[in-house]
Amino acid sequence: MLESCHSTWIFDATRMRFRRILKGLDLDAPSASTAWRPYFGLELDDSSESFVVFLNPEGSRLLRSWRHVEHCPQCGGEAPQSSASMNCAAPRTAEAPAAQIR
Ligand SMILES: [Zn+2]
Repeated sequence: MLESCHSTWIFDATRMRFRRILKGLDLDAPSASTAWRPYFGLELDDSSESFVVFLNPEGSRLLRSWRHVEHCPQCGGEAPQSSASMNCAAPRTAEAPAAQIR
């Protein structure tokens, strides 16, 4: 499972499929997560926080995203656990348990 700035990525390695759960929405809403989609490879970049998901066997269709980290360069935000002081207007679902597992 990976955390990016706007969603949580869940990978089912045995069935080679993945889905994304969008952050900041009511987790009970059907629109909060995507359907399972097949993938053909996952590549993590050790030197940066980026990762690539291969959507076809040839590797010509890719999804690239970035893991959300503390002092995140992608969104400028803090990690979810440390942003409580700025959270007064944020929905409570930003602290859903799934978002805190890394
Ligand atoms: Zn971020």
